Amino acid sequence: MDAGFFRRWLALAAAAVDRDAGRLTDLDSAVGDADHGSNLRRGFAAVTAALDEQEPDTPGAVLQLAGRTLVSKVGGASGPLYGTLLRRTGKALGDAPEVGGEELRDALREGVEAVARLGGGAAGDKTMLDALLPAVDALPDTAAARTAALGGAEATVPLQARKGRASYLGERSKGHMDPGAASSALLIGALDEAANGTDGTDGNGTVDGDG
Ligand code: ADP
Ligand code: MG
Repeated sequence: MDAGFFRRWLALAAAAVDRDAGRLTDLDSAVGDADHGSNLRRGFAAVTAALDEQEPDTPGAVLQLAGRTLVSKVGGASGPLYGTLLRRTGKALGDAPEVGGEELRDALREGVEAVARLGGGAAGDKTMLDALLPAVDALPDTAAARTAALGGAEATVPLQARKGRASYLGERSKGHMDPGAASSALLIGALDEAANGTDGTDGNGTVDGDG
């Protein structure tokens, strides 16, 4: 997987966030402040623009630029958290021109661990970590990771939130999917689309996922 692969991943993520922004904001209106969809839509649009403008030429540079952009453009908790995820993952990939599936898995694991440290969260706290942790465990199989992330997001529904704004609701946070877990499932879904070309459109070129 080269820089082009990672740019396609983030472009597909931006498209998915754009498509599902209303759903993400609806989820956030149940347990938060109804801005998760608009936060991420703005953030990923800025990521797409920054990548087009600066054309970083290694996987690590693509992810680090994306992460820096999210930190600077997204005000909510999710900006620094997703920014840290991508920055740390990019840093772990170093300056290799191409990376394999195992390297990406190991780097993403570092990224997810950095999110846990930054937010003080763990599995079961009803956050994005509940989608990201099982996804990383399922890699390098991206289809399995996508399924795991979706399952992790679904599994947040009955949980009581212990981190973030939703935790202020206490018991009343139960019965709703965590918005960040839902958006993380989109991100991992986009990774699978980039790897396997299962985005259902013909407009993204030929994708070779085994690079
Ligand atoms: P805000 O909560 O500031 O309005 P967003 O609505 O954009 O920010 O993002 C909310 C999401 O961020 C939550 O659904 C949750 O998944 C994630 N989140 C919030 N706090 C934490 C944390 N401490 N650790 C991990 N994820 C968190
Ligand atoms: Mg919010």
